[in-house]
Amino acid sequence: MKKRTYISNIVMNNGLFEFRIFKDIILSKNFDIINYSTDDVHTIDDIIINITDETPDLVIMIVDASNINLYSTIIKELIKNDFKDIVVYYRKFKNTYLSIESTTIPVVTNLNFIIDNNFAELNKNETTTLDNLLNKDTYKECGQNYKNAMENGANMFISGFYDPELEYYGTKHVYLDSDVEDIDFNKFNDCLNINSALIQDNPKNNENFHKYFSHYHTIKENILKFDDGESGINFKIDNLSQINDDKKMDFYKIETSKDLDQLELIINNFQVNGTIDKSIVLANSCGFQKNTCVLSKLPRFRLDKNLDIYPCLYCDKSIGNLKEVHFNLLRSASRHSNTVKLSRKCDECIAKEYCGKCSMLANNISEEQYCNFMRNNKYVSEYLYISLIFGSVIYKSQLFLNSKDKCIQFSNSKKTLCYEFDSDVKRAYFIGFKLMKKYYLFGYSPTKIYEIDNRLMYVAEALARDISFDCLLDNYSKKFDIKVDTAKIHLAEASKKLKKFKVI
Ligand code: SF4
Ligand code: SF4
Repeated sequence: MKKRTYISNIVMNNGLFEFRIFKDIILSKNFDIINYSTDDVHTIDDIIINITDETPDLVIMIVDASNINLYSTIIKELIKNDFKDIVVYYRKFKNTYLSIESTTIPVVTNLNFIIDNNFAELNKNETTTLDNLLNKDTYKECGQNYKNAMENGANMFISGFYDPELEYYGTKHVYLDSDVEDIDFNKFNDCLNINSALIQDNPKNNENFHKYFSHYHTIKENILKFDDGESGINFKIDNLSQINDDKKMDFYKIETSKDLDQLELIINNFQVNGTIDKSIVLANSCGFQKNTCVLSKLPRFRLDKNLDIYPCLYCDKSIGNLKEVHFNLLRSASRHSNTVKLSRKCDECIAKEYCGKCSMLANNISEEQYCNFMRNNKYVSEYLYISLIFGSVIYKSQLFLNSKDKCIQFSNSKKTLCYEFDSDVKRAYFIGFKLMKKYYLFGYSPTKIYEIDNRLMYVAEALARDISFDCLLDNYSKKFDIKVDTAKIHLAEASKKLKKFKVI
């Protein structure tokens, strides 16, 4: 009879783990293969349960440098559950035995060892330890995609901007207060997933944490280190009001009324001149942009030693305790958000179209200060939108890396770069900017920066204002001193290009 064999193949793709079916014709001929049900498997703990419930004769772990840290936890947990019929298939390691939790399991570089059930070539006296097998720096092995994914995650955690379109399977980041020693996340398992990350700035490296989190980031000496390895992001944070050219921070938080005053200066400058200072990256800015609050989905939270849950970084309001059922926590977060909107009468407010309607304000910002700020600063949402795209895409382009300019001039709803007529933008924001006397447009599909001329920028800015074709034709032909018939051809070509860039 064929051995019932469970194959576990968790692959890192663009820095995120995903479950894949491992196909091998010869394995399939020789074994009765069991594939996991991806519907039911979200966390490491689920994987353990899924494997033990299947009661297979053998488990094959498909291991590489990107997932070995994750698999080490899975193997340990299986052994603790008295399941020891495991073989590690690690193509780029060596044929040996792994000594783990007082047991030894084969590590093979070739599937033939498993197919032939012949491990005689592996010398049991030459065992390896988990330390030898573990990957000290995933970045070195997995490259830029891993780093990009970790950076995006860290930026989401710091800014609070989690993509609302994303399908969440639960909480992405849990930040532990430094005095928390040991927590059993068992009850909270439903809300975690295979890519959930624990962040701690006084790392305890508790084994129990690894059972529930595939990523364990640490904060040491102002660096947030991905998976406690060598790569990470600089993490110096100060209040926005303390901004100082001599002492650059990596992030600026908006936590007090003085920070709001400083933000107001920045927004005024953006409104009047269109400029954004690329060295100012804001933390906890989700409350200042429309439709970005994801409180009710609980994608991040801070946890204190009493297991109380604080979903927003600088606010000491708890929405419940880790011991509560996950659904109740989500309901409590959602209820809180709705109650606040009702009590503030957001539906009747002049800022309702662009306001973030933050219900977990930083401790030192009152509701009155926040609402006054939002009502007086209509362009804050647009500023943050552009800064965000800026941070994630534009900054990383060679164009900016080569530029010494600290500030970049953007076309915004109020201030144009080329079009001279005074009317606010009507359509959704498009991103156009001027750098070193050249004009650029940010295209959405695919995301790309296009260098354009002043005429195309002129047309883009006019169309964003829903100017009628006749009016645009007249203005364009006068501005660039072009005959009307030729101007018509230019406008048709411009419109075609802008549609191609998905700007209009
Ligand atoms: S409540 Fe405020 S700080 Fe929290 S996620 Fe929503 S907008 Fe951000
Ligand atoms: S400014 Fe205040 S009242 Fe107005 S929409 Fe925003 S949160 Fe609501």
